[in-house]
Amino acid sequence: MICAHCGYIGKTERFSKGSYLLEIILWMMLFVPGTLYTTWRFFNEYHACPICRNMTMTPLDSTLGKKIANEKERMNEPITKKEVHNFLARLFYGK
Ligand SMILES: [Zn+2]
Repeated sequence: MICAHCGYIGKTERFSKGSYLLEIILWMMLFVPGTLYTTWRFFNEYHACPICRNMTMTPLDSTLGKKIANEKERMNEPITKKEVHNFLARLFYGK
């Protein structure tokens, strides 16, 4: 899986909506709201990127995943002097 947002490659992580702290507080107050809240969180689980928590994780072998991986690789490539020269030449001389 690859993240379309930050380019993280790896497994997705399971997150729940709401807060863990609130869940504990509700459990301490009464049994009923605690149960309801836990149930609500259980049904509101989602899989997301462990780095940026975006739900944009795409399988690496999908078309979109491959495209993102390629773009990510390109971004990590060091820029050579020749490339800078070519870029500047194009900019100034329109070649
Ligand atoms: Zn991410």
